[in-house]
Amino acid sequence: MDLSSLGFFRSLRKDNHQFAVIGLGRFGRSVCSTLHRLGYQVLATDIDEKRVADALSEKIVGHAVQLDSTEPAALKEAGLFEFDTVIIAIGNYIQESIITTLNVKEGGVPHVIAKASTEVHCKLLKRVGADHVVFPEYEAGSSLARTLTKPSILERFDLDPEHSIVEIIVPDEFDGKTVAELQLRNRYGLNLLAVSQDGKFKINPDPYQRLYKGAAMVVIGCNKDINRLPI
Ligand code: ATP
Repeated sequence: MDLSSLGFFRSLRKDNHQFAVIGLGRFGRSVCSTLHRLGYQVLATDIDEKRVADALSEKIVGHAVQLDSTEPAALKEAGLFEFDTVIIAIGNYIQESIITTLNVKEGGVPHVIAKASTEVHCKLLKRVGADHVVFPEYEAGSSLARTLTKPSILERFDLDPEHSIVEIIVPDEFDGKTVAELQLRNRYGLNLLAVSQDGKFKINPDPYQRLYKGAAMVVIGCNKDINRLPI
């Protein structure tokens, strides 16, 4: 995770069970239905009456109202300013997204998350007070490109821009070798966290544990060292 987002996630109240989502495009609907399924109360809003009606009839939210979020009075009347966390899921209408973010922040909502569609949009959202900005198309595209270029990396968790935890397929060159023989720390500067065995992971494998090609292993370290692995 980007460490600059740490403060934001730490500031979220653990006992908050209510969220408001503005914008019922594919992204907004996905946020709503997931929160709803997880048992949280969600108020969804959209300027488009049909989208509001669809969200209610498909039961992806408990409450939904039609309103124009560029109107502060409409947001106030619907009670949006009483929420602790509001998600602004308007990506394609940049002007509306910026004005809505400004309105919601000026209304006193402590945690405002906004969706950006471009880098400039992202900068503008931050300027008008968004506490956290997501860029789902960029993130999904970047993740796909990484998977396509390094198919042996099954999962990747970025700790910061230089360090990661990765789950990789055990390379052919490691086949039949023990953890001690591989000397991952000396040769690559990497720490081995887990090795898969019989469909489960063995955490902190002992030095005598043997690795077999095609199994999975999890390592932590510098990206440049991870890139030196024979994968
Ligand atoms: P998707 O997730 O579908 O790829 P998106 O999240 O970028 O797209 P948009 O196309 O930007 O979504 O639209 C999101 C929703 O925001 C639409 O349903 C649109 O009707 C709604 N919307 C646009 N302007 C306003 C507004 N002023 N007030 C409330 N809702 C609005």
